[in-house]
Amino acid sequence: MPDPIDKVESATHRQQLARIRELYGQVLSSEQLRSEISGFQSQKGIYKPGGSEYALWVRQTARGVYPDEEPTTFEDGSWSFRYAPEGRAGVSDMGLDTNRALVRCHEKGIPVGVFRQTTAVQGRTSYEVLGLAYVEDFDGTHFLLRGEPIDWTVTPEPESVIPVFEPLELGTPSLAESVRLIRDQRFGVVIRRLYHDQCSLCQLGFRLRGRSVGLEAAHIIPVESRGNLRDVRNGVLLCRNHHSLFDLYAWTMDEDLRVQVADDAEFRKSAEANHVLKFEGVRLPNLPTAQRDYPATKAIEWRMKEFVRAWA
Ligand SMILES: [Zn+2]
Repeated sequence: MPDPIDKVESATHRQQLARIRELYGQVLSSEQLRSEISGFQSQKGIYKPGGSEYALWVRQTARGVYPDEEPTTFEDGSWSFRYAPEGRAGVSDMGLDTNRALVRCHEKGIPVGVFRQTTAVQGRTSYEVLGLAYVEDFDGTHFLLRGEPIDWTVTPEPESVIPVFEPLELGTPSLAESVRLIRDQRFGVVIRRLYHDQCSLCQLGFRLRGRSVGLEAAHIIPVESRGNLRDVRNGVLLCRNHHSLFDLYAWTMDEDLRVQVADDAEFRKSAEANHVLKFEGVRLPNLPTAQRDYPATKAIEWRMKEFVRAWA
C-alpha cells in the first residue's frame, strides 16, 4: 500500500503527519507538543492548518464538552475511537471549517493525528500520542477514527472480522532493522494498554511521570524464532522479573492460560518466597478486557512444547 501521507500536497503538512507517526505512544506535555506540532497552542479540538484543506490532528481533552469514548484496540494493534465534531454552545455544527476538513480527510483517505489528554504530569497538562488514524465514517453524531495497525503498511480489517492468527512472521526472513524497531515499539505500547499497565502474572505496575515503569511486552513465540511481531495475540505484558523467568522457561502459561512452573528443584526452592509458585495452576490474573485480544492458543502451544523440551 502506498503511504497515504504522500497524497497531501503541502510538504509541511506531510512532515507534521510523519512526525506524529514517529511520536506514536509517547506521553508528552503540552509545552513539548507546542514546540513540535503546529496549532497545539490553540484551544481547538480539531486543527486545520491555514491554507490546507485537510485537518492535521484532533485531540480529546479531559474536560471536553462533547463526550468521546474510550478507544477499542484490535488484534493488529489498530484502534477505533469515536470522536465528537466541534460545535457552538454544545451543538455540533458540521458547517464549521474544522469539521469540514475532517470530512475531507474521510473522502480522500488522508490520515489525521490523534492526541488524548492523560493525567497531568507534575501539574502539566499532558497528552498521549495515539498516532495516525483514518476517518472511516461519520455516523451522524461522531467521526469514527481508526488508528494505524502495528504494521502501518497494511489497512486494518473491518472491526467485525477477527483475523486468523499467524504464529510466525511470513515473508522475508530478515526484516529491515528499522521496520523491526518500529513494530517492536508499537507492539509494546499496545500490549501495555491492553494489559492495563500491569504484569499479567503478579499484577505489579508502577506509574511515574505519566509513564509505566518496569513492565515489558513479551513475545510468546520469540522474535528469534520468527514469532509474529504485528499481532497482539503473540504478546503478554510482564514485569521485568517475570519476563526474564518466562524467557528462560522457568514458567509458562498453558492453553487455559494457567500458570505452569518448571519442575526444577533448584528453581522452585529459590522461588519459594516469590510470586511465581503462588500462581502455579492459577489462571493469569490480568488479561485484556476483550477475549479476542488474549494470547493465541497456537502461540501458547508453541511455547508449551519448548517448555516441556527445556526441562526434559
Ligand atoms: Zn510480574
